[in-house]
Amino acid sequence: MKAGKDKVISLHYTLTVDGEKVESSLDRNEPLWVLLGHGQLIPGLEKALEGHEAGEQLQAEIAPAEGYGERQQGLTQRVPKKYFQQAAKLKPGMTTVLALKEGGHRVVVVEKVGMTTVDVDLNHPMAGKALTFDVTINEVRDGTEEEIQHGHAHPPGAEAH
Ligand code: ZN
Repeated sequence: MKAGKDKVISLHYTLTVDGEKVESSLDRNEPLWVLLGHGQLIPGLEKALEGHEAGEQLQAEIAPAEGYGERQQGLTQRVPKKYFQQAAKLKPGMTTVLALKEGGHRVVVVEKVGMTTVDVDLNHPMAGKALTFDVTINEVRDGTEEEIQHGHAHPPGAEAH
């Protein structure tokens, strides 16, 4: 079965940026399960997987525009320390998670730590980066009706959600 829209795929991946390994599902020993065509993956990786089958290995080189976007200027924001869970531990260059007023979370990069505020860069840490994914596809199957309704894959053994 070929990977494409409304298919569920399980894969192992290693992400390399600027020649350095950033993360790998192999370190977690659990494959990533995704429902294709529902925005679970960055667009470039979705495209790279399309038409491939279980057992295949591939390498995808993804430009920033198809990855986490280009870096934007002027996205530095001064945020009171109380909005950070572990403000005392923050240092410039660190990545941290910021709770948003409108709900949800955003990964930000710390630029400067002041007495009561922290300057953060709201660009995604991977914005402006070319991404290299080494992927091994374990399984491709049809998404269930429920998965397609939810817009995400239900890995085996996961609780209903
Ligand atoms: Zn669900």
